[in-house]
Amino acid sequence: MDLGISGKRALVCASSKGLGRGCAEALAAAGATMILNARGAEALEATAEAIRTAHGVEVIAVAADITSAEGRARVLEAAGAVDILVTNAGGPPPGLWSDWDRDDFIAALDASMLTPIALIQAALPGMIARGWGRVVNITSRSVKAPIPALGLSNSARAGLTGFVAGTARQVAPHGVTINNLLPGAHATDRTVALDTNAAQAQGISFEEARAKSEAAIPAGRYGTAQEFGATCAFLCSQHAGYIVGQNILLDGGSVNATI
Ligand code: NAP
Repeated sequence: MDLGISGKRALVCASSKGLGRGCAEALAAAGATMILNARGAEALEATAEAIRTAHGVEVIAVAADITSAEGRARVLEAAGAVDILVTNAGGPPPGLWSDWDRDDFIAALDASMLTPIALIQAALPGMIARGWGRVVNITSRSVKAPIPALGLSNSARAGLTGFVAGTARQVAPHGVTINNLLPGAHATDRTVALDTNAAQAQGISFEEARAKSEAAIPAGRYGTAQEFGATCAFLCSQHAGYIVGQNILLDGGSVNATI
């Protein structure tokens, strides 16, 4: 299917690895000009070069912490007028409700709520002026079904979800859509870390912890970054102009709900 976005300019944040990279690969495969970002320059450059080689599109790579004002300013300046924005960053750490003080909550809100909001606010005026834009935020299935150990994530992502719900309706008349993608477990570095922790906590091997986790998912496996990226690219396509303010679960059926 031709996604109709060849030549569009796409900024994908936190995209040297994992789900962000999956989105970048799929958008580049559809012919978009790419701006990639991550903190670590080495992995970022390697990903940028791999995408240039595989898809023959222009790729600009900006090594920066997207959750800092200074990092965001550098990324936005290099990106210029973007047609497509995918917001993403690392998730907040796990813990217990009693572990976190005000500073922990402020840090989580900065990373998972205020950073995507600042990026959206920077991108929207140009998208509205040009009469076309696509914003996809990578959030989490925890928005629909809380993950108890991820209280910081549950809280901050709920705030972003509320902002998107109203704003998406305000910008829809201008040909701009904003939607959220809610990943369940995907096979990335993040789940390697989470399953390693689970294995240690339960005194079992990594493989046993992974198998236990996969067995709890109706699909019986973790998702892939490729599947995730393909959904993101569709949401950014010409065909998805009527999908507005939605929270789309990609979780193999993990959230047990009718709607
Ligand atoms: P990942 O495999 O660990 O990849 C994270 C990517 O983001 C890397 O490229 C990393 O590069 C970059 N990054 C992290 N913090 C950054 C920052 N402050 N500024 C710029 N780049 C940054 O993680 P993932 O699995 O793709 O997860 C992506 C998001 O989805 C996270 O917020 C995670 O909580 C959420 N999520 C993931 C899953 C899952 O199963 N994978 C499930 C639910 C939610 P550098 O480290 O070099 O910066």
